[in-house]
Amino acid sequence: MNILVINCGSSSLKYQLIDSKNENVLAKGLCDRIGIDDSFVKQTVTGKDAKVFEVELKDHNAAIAEVVKALTDKEYGVIDSLDDISAVGHRIVHGGERFHESVIIDDEVMKAIEECVPLAPLHNPPNIIGIRACQAAMKGVPQIAVFDTAFHQTMPKEAYMYALPYDYYKKYGIRKYGFHGTSHKYVAERCAALMGKPLEALKIITCHIGNGGSIAAIRGGKCMDTSMGFTPLDGLEMGTRSGILDPAVVLFLMENEGLSSKEMNAVLNKKSGLLGVSGVSSDMRDVTTAMKEGNSRAKLALQIFAYRVKSYIGQYAAVMNGVDAVVFTAGIGENDGEARLACASGLEYLGLKVDPAKNAVKGGEVEISTDDSAVKVFVIATNEELAIARETARLLAK
Ligand code: ADP
Repeated sequence: MNILVINCGSSSLKYQLIDSKNENVLAKGLCDRIGIDDSFVKQTVTGKDAKVFEVELKDHNAAIAEVVKALTDKEYGVIDSLDDISAVGHRIVHGGERFHESVIIDDEVMKAIEECVPLAPLHNPPNIIGIRACQAAMKGVPQIAVFDTAFHQTMPKEAYMYALPYDYYKKYGIRKYGFHGTSHKYVAERCAALMGKPLEALKIITCHIGNGGSIAAIRGGKCMDTSMGFTPLDGLEMGTRSGILDPAVVLFLMENEGLSSKEMNAVLNKKSGLLGVSGVSSDMRDVTTAMKEGNSRAKLALQIFAYRVKSYIGQYAAVMNGVDAVVFTAGIGENDGEARLACASGLEYLGLKVDPAKNAVKGGEVEISTDDSAVKVFVIATNEELAIARETARLLAK
């Protein structure tokens, strides 16, 4: 059974066609510059060279039509017709409090996803457009929604509530939601499998650290807390996001710099993090290079980064009254051994020790803790597309 996985952004759309039987990726692609000039579809069919189709993508409907064309292309495609697509799995950023798990999309679900737009005004609208475009292009093919927030819905109230006037929670749904849920869940399940233990018996801290980053405390397979909050701005120092800070700083800067809410939003989301502190780049590799060349602000940016990850590991060990395993994943977590070592050093009091030799890995699924480390540490490559395809297949089988 072939499942098309769609991750639809405002001007781009990523897709993968996955055979759910053997979990092979048949093709993956990107529609870029949707609604702008010079748009294109770049598709790689497994085992063949990438092919770029220079086509006009005036909107998302056009993009989906081109995806179907590319997948069924006689020369560069991988399937004969639309009949070879059994279902579509959509990555949806925000499911609010309504969605605790993935669902088959019907009119009621669409309405509920639309009601979540105020919570994710930049992300849910393109996600919705992507669903509608697929519904139009693939009549009768089941569409499934997989939410970034769903996995975190098990957090207890004391973890997800802010100590604000309670009415704001009632009126606007102001609370912690958490993101990257599909990734946290996937790597936690892989971690349990690698340990040969049931997920239900484990306390796991998953560190999804890429350009955006979040950490989750997972006890018995359920999320107990996570570092992103009402929006993805909270928590870790990210590529361009500030992460946690005293909210009074926002008020101070708006008053003293005369910033509008839009400008303040840009400072927090686009000009802070690794980029803001280092003044060099939002990319971990660039900041690391600058640090090695003697740039003291780049060094500080990396120190803040590691300090925060370590602090959350300590916090979540406390939240769960212990920890059996820590997992590193996403761009930095999978590839950057130096960053991992910095994040996980000084945690010997927890019984956590990384083996520097084992830590010299990129990607895959590898244990990197010393043999005598009480807490196991793993590098586990995340695979959100596969997780979405699995969810889609699971719901279809029901
Ligand atoms: P996104 O949140 O956009 O999905 P990624 O998970 O792709 O981000 O992570 C991007 C981050 O991973 C960047 O900071 C990049 O520098 C870092 N990264 C990717 N590859 C490496 C590598 N080989 N060494 C160090 N850092 C890396």
